[in-house]
Amino acid sequence: MPLTTASSRVRFPLLGFALLLLSAQAAADTIVLKNGRRIAALSAYEEGGKVKYMTSAGELSLPKSIVDHIEKGGFAPTAGPSGDAAANLTIAPPEIRPEGGSGIEEIQRGAVHDGSIDRQYIAKLESEARPGNATATFNAALGHHAAATFELSRGDLEHALSDERTAVNYAPDEPALLMNVAYIYLRRNEYKQALDYLEHAKRLVPDNPDVGKLAGWAYYGMNKLDQAVAEWKHAFSIRPDKELQAALEAAMRDKKEEESYKENESSHFKLKYNGAAEPALARDVLRTLEMHFSAIESELNYTPPEPIGVVLYTEQAFVDITRAPAWAGALYDGRIRVPVQGLTSVDGELSRSLKHELTHSFVAQKTKTACMGMAVSCSNRAPTWIQEGLAQWMEGYRSANDAAVLVQIFDQKLAIPLGKLEGSWTRFDRDTAHFAYAWALANMEYIIQADGMTDVERILDRIGAGMATEQALREVLHSDYNDLMESTVGYLRKNYVH
Ligand SMILES: [Zn+2]
Repeated sequence: MPLTTASSRVRFPLLGFALLLLSAQAAADTIVLKNGRRIAALSAYEEGGKVKYMTSAGELSLPKSIVDHIEKGGFAPTAGPSGDAAANLTIAPPEIRPEGGSGIEEIQRGAVHDGSIDRQYIAKLESEARPGNATATFNAALGHHAAATFELSRGDLEHALSDERTAVNYAPDEPALLMNVAYIYLRRNEYKQALDYLEHAKRLVPDNPDVGKLAGWAYYGMNKLDQAVAEWKHAFSIRPDKELQAALEAAMRDKKEEESYKENESSHFKLKYNGAAEPALARDVLRTLEMHFSAIESELNYTPPEPIGVVLYTEQAFVDITRAPAWAGALYDGRIRVPVQGLTSVDGELSRSLKHELTHSFVAQKTKTACMGMAVSCSNRAPTWIQEGLAQWMEGYRSANDAAVLVQIFDQKLAIPLGKLEGSWTRFDRDTAHFAYAWALANMEYIIQADGMTDVERILDRIGAGMATEQALREVLHSDYNDLMESTVGYLRKNYVH
């Protein structure tokens, strides 16, 4: 979920030429906190008293005062570097191998050799599996598993996931494969999906300590601390190890921290804040959120069914939480988490951040309705460019400052097509991310100005019902992505570029 602790914004002019560096490879920075904790991040930078960085949960920020220094450079070791809580747990991949099947080693050697994956060999295993022979089918699973293991070792989580899931399709009841899929999901901070696979594995091998270890990780990432502790204690009772002990201690520490939080409520929000935060600030935040809630509710003509959780952090709490935090994972729960250190009342910037995050919460809930109540995890949700474009628009930002550069980038055929901005933006370097935010805003601004918010509402309804975004655009706007981008550039030219 692109919920962010501070609103992500493009407030300085884009560097058009930096876009020539649109490589998929992302330089990694390491943020070193004063307490010694190291956070692997993409493109960390300082801005206005904060250190901002990209994670799989969107752009996050830390108060500068808790950061010792930033180590620049190097390359991201994995596709999912983040300051995410659960990512800081040191849990190794499960040491598990599929049982049985003759010639496992031979298949591994066949599937991966000379530093690459032999797709032809795997295709051969697949065609041998076609008649339905059990051993041949299992061998096809092993081939994909070998490929996934290789991809995982290179940090290519996306292809690893795809291969491991294919392996599970061939051998749906092999616990080791189920656990490996879960492990890759966990590395991607996709906790709910991981749990689906772990539930299945648990039914097959209820007393396997690795299942409990991974399930605890998933719950921890979802900020369900009681369940995390229960899973890890169970795993520990079967097979104690150091990783589990450290994980258990971290979860207990977080639980204690959470229990020290006070709660406050208004009609649409449940607010938690640390005992040290000003009660007056908490009230002010709730009042501001209720005001934004009414505004967004009438703009989008939609009322989220559930109360929205909000957590305010003071600086000390933020430090504690980021030591072994659960907050980034909880972004998936749709809680709005805001560091408010040093504030006694809501200022303009905090108010805008709250509105930005609240927009994400509305969109997430609106586009998830179709999947509610289904056991399978729901993947239907608004693409990132719609989420971020709309959130910035609701915050009050418009394209004036970025229009000229956006037009220039588009004319030079360097604009990233919207279709490529549907998924996660975490691989983008800083300049690309800035472009993506500005471009998303411009396209949403054009849609809203040209056709009104009702069209946005209709687009979101269709996406919520499972329709692909471009198809939803075709039905509502009678435009495909190319038409939309052309129209947006025309709009920018006409209104802002002279
Ligand atoms: Zn955002």
